[in-house]
Amino acid sequence: MAAGAGMSGVVDLAGPSASTKTAEVRPQRVTVLGATGSIGASTLDLISRSGGAFEVFAVTANANVEGLAACARASGAKRAVIGEEALYAALRDALEGSGIEAAAGEGALIEAASVPVDCTIAAIVGAAGLRPALAAVRTGRRLGLANKECLVSAGDIFMNEVESSGCELIPVDSEHSAAFQVLRGTQPEAIEKIILTASGGPFRDWPLERIVNATREDALKHPNWSMGAKITVDSATMMNKGLELIEALHLFPVTTDQLGMLVHRQSIVHCLVSFVDGSVLSQMAEPDMRTPIALALSWPRRMPAPTKRLDLTQISQLSFEPADEIRFPAIRIARAAMERGGSAPAVLNAANEIAVSAFLDGRLRVPDIASMVEETLGRADKGGLLGEADSLEGILGCDSEARRLCEELVSRKG
Ligand code: NDP
Repeated sequence: MAAGAGMSGVVDLAGPSASTKTAEVRPQRVTVLGATGSIGASTLDLISRSGGAFEVFAVTANANVEGLAACARASGAKRAVIGEEALYAALRDALEGSGIEAAAGEGALIEAASVPVDCTIAAIVGAAGLRPALAAVRTGRRLGLANKECLVSAGDIFMNEVESSGCELIPVDSEHSAAFQVLRGTQPEAIEKIILTASGGPFRDWPLERIVNATREDALKHPNWSMGAKITVDSATMMNKGLELIEALHLFPVTTDQLGMLVHRQSIVHCLVSFVDGSVLSQMAEPDMRTPIALALSWPRRMPAPTKRLDLTQISQLSFEPADEIRFPAIRIARAAMERGGSAPAVLNAANEIAVSAFLDGRLRVPDIASMVEETLGRADKGGLLGEADSLEGILGCDSEARRLCEELVSRKG
């Protein structure tokens, strides 16, 4: 992908009446991919409070049989799918007597995602969510996309499929949900800059020498958000913001130099968009993912979400500062991969997934995450891996080779 390739495949910026059908009275059918995770639980919580406005078709997980069976039963889902094929019998037993259909394996995940529903929430973590999310896109219905790694790895391919299928893509990542709302009805040429905000994570004020010895528990202590482990570590290294820049490039009609970020400690302003006339618009909300998920479920309407209401007199101060790229080298590395384009973002993402998992297993320290990713990108470049990203098979090939390279580096380090 060349710099600026995000100009072609973008979410529809027309106003709500131009892009959506009138809401029907019947319950909206929803599939939740990654139902046992943090976004999955927030989605099911909203659905359970919706007074029957939604009904669940399928819920999926990777290995958490108990959690999946519990949320399938509680939500009245028709189908529950576990990614690990070997866990089929355990899931079937856990669902016994419920009438809920059990299935297992990657093929079953894709098959469940291929069944047309009104809205699919894509909340699997990592590039593992790419094929199921693409299957949901191909149904041509609505996709609430939380799984940012899909767009980082295969953004051009993904957005081409969105365009050709007529899928209505609503971003769930809070910054992109904010930009999506702010940009409604905007002419692309009126946009000057999209600025994503970042809390700065738990290490924003730590002396650099202390970060070297940060533990898993330190990294998982996010100051503002409660999220799954992988994205929480990504927030601690600020790789998350790098991934989000690439996500924004694909979602919105901007070039790489129109994307910026600011550290905003309070996580109240989720994104700022500046326009050619000097206006800056933003969206604000308390940091609770149920707000952007509710938007994805109910757009162009708004459904009630039981979140804490914003009281600016209590918060009293909103602060903004530049991101520190010395403290957080992942930002520079991700930006370089975004500007390089092609398969570089897929390699960045795959290496980061391996490095984060090694950190969570106690095999790496926090600063090693960014250096492993950078080294993997360097080796991939030398090995001629950073080429075009024009086929899904090509991208998946780069992804697995980058994982292998990074694993090798991690083992050597260990
Ligand atoms: P969690 O780790 O909490 O949940 C991940 C979900 O994906 C679980 O249901 C898990 O199943 C499933 N899963 C994991 N690996 C696989 C696999 N190989 N195949 C199939 N399913 C799998 O993640 P989050 O909910 O925090 O994040 C989900 C996505 O949303 C990520 O891409 C993240 O970046 C994005 N996001 C999350 C936010 C948040 O607040 N949490 C905010 C913005 C974006 P199991 O339980 O069995 O492991």
